Amino acid sequence: MAIRNIVKLGDDILTKKCRHVDDINEKIITLLDDMHETLIEADGVGLAAPQVGILKRIAIIDTGLDFIELINPEILSASGEQTGLEGCLSYPGKFGEVTRPMVVTVKAQNRRGEWYEYTGEGLTARALCHEIEHLDGHMFIEKVTRWSDEMDSEE
Ligand code: ZN
Repeated sequence: MAIRNIVKLGDDILTKKCRHVDDINEKIITLLDDMHETLIEADGVGLAAPQVGILKRIAIIDTGLDFIELINPEILSASGEQTGLEGCLSYPGKFGEVTRPMVVTVKAQNRRGEWYEYTGEGLTARALCHEIEHLDGHMFIEKVTRWSDEMDSEE
């Protein structure tokens, strides 16, 4: 495993749409492992492949309670609402208030290529929305209603 370099805001790659993963091969497995190590090292909640310079539809989330590997994820449904501060490893030290659904159900493939459905609430739902947006070249900054230099304790 290896720590990958995290691309920062301003890099073109973060505005590009990622490609569907057709073949979950050894390179993809290594990428998933590297992304997890990178996420832990950066002390983040989620990481999308374009953030490490790979334009593929892959993201991971590790909230401490939930660890989810998402290949070709799609949001199936969303309900409720939460408003809170959100950050991004590609924009370190800045936090913005974003309104997100409270509950999100996604479908995605795991590293064995199996499709599964996952329902996340609260922080996990927020992270699912945030990471899947990265795969379409969008960032949370487009949705921020208020900026902060610190993360609220409630998040
Ligand atoms: Zn992000």
